[in-house]
Amino acid sequence: MLEEFIHPPRVAYFSMEIALRNEIPTYAGGLGVLAGDMVRSAADLMLPMVAISLVSRAGYFRQRIDEQGRQQEIPDYWQPELWAKPLDAKVAVTIEGRSVWISAWLYLVEGLSGGKQPVLLLDTDLNENTPEDRELTHYLYGGDACYRLKQEIVLGIGGVRILQALGFSIFHYHMNEGHSAFLGVELLRRYAHPLNELRPGEPHYDIPRVREMCSFTTHTPVEAGHDRFDYDLINRVFDHNFDISTIRHLAGNDALNMTRLALNLSEYVNGVAKSHADISNKMFPGYQVHAITNGVHPLTWAAESFRELYNSKIPGWHHEPELLIRAECCISDEDIKIAHLKAKKKLIEQVYDLTGVRLELDIPIIAFARRMTAYKRPDMLFSDIQRLKEIAKKTPFQIVMSGKAHPSDEGGKSLIADLHSYAKQLQGIIPTAYLPDYNLTIAHGMVSGSDIWLNTPLKPFEASGTSGMKAALNGVPSLSVLDGWWIEGCLEGITGWAIGTMASGNGSDAIDLYKKLEQVVLPLYYNEDTSGWTKIMKYAISKNASYFNSHRMMRRYLIEAYTQ
Ligand SMILES: *Cc1c(COP(=O)(O)O)cnc(C)c1O
Repeated sequence: MLEEFIHPPRVAYFSMEIALRNEIPTYAGGLGVLAGDMVRSAADLMLPMVAISLVSRAGYFRQRIDEQGRQQEIPDYWQPELWAKPLDAKVAVTIEGRSVWISAWLYLVEGLSGGKQPVLLLDTDLNENTPEDRELTHYLYGGDACYRLKQEIVLGIGGVRILQALGFSIFHYHMNEGHSAFLGVELLRRYAHPLNELRPGEPHYDIPRVREMCSFTTHTPVEAGHDRFDYDLINRVFDHNFDISTIRHLAGNDALNMTRLALNLSEYVNGVAKSHADISNKMFPGYQVHAITNGVHPLTWAAESFRELYNSKIPGWHHEPELLIRAECCISDEDIKIAHLKAKKKLIEQVYDLTGVRLELDIPIIAFARRMTAYKRPDMLFSDIQRLKEIAKKTPFQIVMSGKAHPSDEGGKSLIADLHSYAKQLQGIIPTAYLPDYNLTIAHGMVSGSDIWLNTPLKPFEASGTSGMKAALNGVPSLSVLDGWWIEGCLEGITGWAIGTMASGNGSDAIDLYKKLEQVVLPLYYNEDTSGWTKIMKYAISKNASYFNSHRMMRRYLIEAYTQ
């Protein structure tokens, strides 16, 4: 298969989830979308990269919402054979003392200039395996700790082995989050000094050599986002040919912490925004955490109307998104309004098709969409319904929301139910829609068709956030708490608006949100002179989309992490 590529892949990018296209549900949220955008940029830039993930045959889940606003989770089976090509290679890993066989599907991401990026989707659903093992690559983030551990063995160890079986010669491995950190363990085994050549006291494993080959990106300061496994479980499940005391030394004595393991086996460690790198440096003293701030893939996230606009006014923008810096001068107010109205019309149709709620073209749409979980505070907008109604009386607006909660996040699920009950309370006063089953297509419609992109995380838990970057690419300004990427992206009243200040506590954010909406954002939208609003739309593009894109991110990873 290697002959298919102009440049044989030399960098391997490992991710538990990856968003390749809407029909392939192998992603849960931001982490997977970012992985997809990395690979799409690598394809456009024709970089020698191969991505490794799980085939997740039953996907994350399809979200249905019942009359009471309760989320129901339905397995989201997809057919790999419709989109990907089965590969011949088969490798085995040891789990609970038996061999679990792994094969791979090849999915090709095609870039703009003919670049083809291979993505290997690992699959254990093979005749050789027990019924239980066949399901190891079915449910993304499903099951208990034992199931997760086995998946991570398949991803990390199986992934490295299948790359070798397919003839790839990889010089650098990148772990997108700690889930794949066992790849480092497999490399330790591969590059171990032969026991019979060791002098007394010399180490068996060549840790510095492995470290030099690996980079690690950490994605969250939320403690639950870092996998930990009990050593009882490890002893029962993990390959006994590997010396567990070395793992204990690298991954923590009390429990096997995948983040620790990744940190200790990576030369280059990255956070996903500057503030997240600072926080990670405090969380992990003794390590140097760099900051290559996240970005989004330009062509993927621009609405068709904006693609056309950029193609005609800023040719070359999708290969060098830096050129979008010219948007301020090269795009007229009229053109940007027309492009936006086209995208807004599409969103209005999408909302009607999915929910039956009718929205108006000349009333601003406030959008909120992301994982539904407590720290994102999706209910902040509704914390004072009376106040919200008063604002809407003077300056009407409409609300569109979407997002899934992890099946075991009861708090997140009850937030979804709350949002549905607020929407009912606002019926006839503020048109409010909740789009079920947040996915790439819904995200695309929302980030391009809304007027204001709202984000209200509890500081400092938003590591980066990327949907506001997608909005900026479509000239949609953010109204957001200063956390994650927005600390870097916010120029007050220019690229959007902050809720609160860097210094203010989380408690006053709701009051500040209402104040900003009532006194600044909505009055500007309704101003007779519309040039104030279009200027902000253009600044969102010229100052933020030109920078917060995955081409810049990918180029920086290549230079600063992979080829150090
Ligand atoms: C971009 C995206 C996300 C991540 O959004 P954040 O703002 O980073 O929380 C999640 N899900 C989908 C479908 C997306 O497109």
